[in-house]
Amino acid sequence: MTLRWLQPDLLQLSAGQFVTQHALAIDAAGRIAAVEPIEALPATITPRRLPDQILLPGFVNAHSHAFQRAMRGSTEHLQVGHESDDFWSWRERMYQLALPLDPEPLYTIAFNLYREMLAAGYTAVGEFHYLHHRQDGSAHPTPDHLSRVLIRAAQDAGIRIAVLLVLYVTGGINTSPSPRQRRFISPDLGAFLSLLEPLLRDFGDAPLVSLGLAPHSIRAVPTPMLQKLAEWNRAHHLPVHMHVCEQVTEVEQTRAHLGASPLEIIARTGLLDERFVGVHATHLEADDPQRLNDAGARVCACPTTEANLGDGFLPAHALMSAGVPICIGSDGHIVVNPMEELRLIENNERLQRRRRNVLAGLMQPTPGSMRVAPGLLQSGALHGGAALSIDAGQIKIGLHADLIALDRNDPYLSGVPTDPLAEAIVFSAGPRCVREVWVGGVTRYARSG
Ligand SMILES: [Zn+2]
Repeated sequence: MTLRWLQPDLLQLSAGQFVTQHALAIDAAGRIAAVEPIEALPATITPRRLPDQILLPGFVNAHSHAFQRAMRGSTEHLQVGHESDDFWSWRERMYQLALPLDPEPLYTIAFNLYREMLAAGYTAVGEFHYLHHRQDGSAHPTPDHLSRVLIRAAQDAGIRIAVLLVLYVTGGINTSPSPRQRRFISPDLGAFLSLLEPLLRDFGDAPLVSLGLAPHSIRAVPTPMLQKLAEWNRAHHLPVHMHVCEQVTEVEQTRAHLGASPLEIIARTGLLDERFVGVHATHLEADDPQRLNDAGARVCACPTTEANLGDGFLPAHALMSAGVPICIGSDGHIVVNPMEELRLIENNERLQRRRRNVLAGLMQPTPGSMRVAPGLLQSGALHGGAALSIDAGQIKIGLHADLIALDRNDPYLSGVPTDPLAEAIVFSAGPRCVREVWVGGVTRYARSG
């Protein structure tokens, strides 16, 4: 078996733990085949040297709406005649962008975004995809055409993609969809499965591509249909991603119409299990972290977008105290910077509590450790891989060789000793530090110069 060996200056053996004098082997299938001390390698093997570089698992971007990248900068002001702005008014402007978007511009936006993600150190993306139909709301001749456009953009860019196909039925609880939502709507589960099943057939074994379910939110899917989806998935075992409680209004409406919190309702439908990922868990009830942990479920935090939209704070301390793994997503792509998503999880807790190192000791790879950064590095990679059900997110034999090399001499990291390197990566580094990116063992990005 032909192996390709890489020898960085430092290699991350487990989150936040770096070793020197080690090499990593990639097999012909693009998976990690070995991690060995240099002294154990036969003399016939000459690894490719990665001088002054730190090799880590690639970051996983578990929540993306690619088309929203086209809005960057354009909503950061008040519109004349509107003296206030919030999530709901932002959503109207997002609809204005989504409604006229054609397939080829969507391809270009997504391709450029996925290249931007690779350059920032993301090696996989969970694309929460709801722009299904043509501008007038009618189906494309190939109904899943826009899913295939996004898959093509990801394949051409070289990033691993999990298409999280969105089921979007209603405009709000017990409310018909508005005409502005016409490109998203599946009238029933059968229509949704007719989008999904050809994709499962055609991409079931495709390299770099996988699929998942994304019932959009309690607002957008009636509970009996969530129940049916849970039943369908008992035979298919796909990851299930869902916007949980991004806005106070949706929590209040769920209580008013359905008599319980969104997560309680989701649990009753049978969807809340170890495949479930709750996105935007910004307005959880006090017992929700335990409910999530009991189910083995995860949470996806999107702190830069949640800040931009004024959603609220993720209760990271409560979630991590309960043992709930948190992964990250760049969501609306105001920022594509995994390190910033990670540090905001801790920094938001600091700002609210006026304390430091709030998440110390929680969800750490080494029990008893009082560090913060190793746990956050797991959020960036390991928990994202699990959230998308892909074999990635760690440097571990058998997993995909989805890797990044950071430049130890970059001004953001220069002068930092090895001991607090994980901390400097999380709290101080940025996409500029990324030197090279491998997905499935193939170099997909290399910084010039
Ligand atoms: Zn979202």
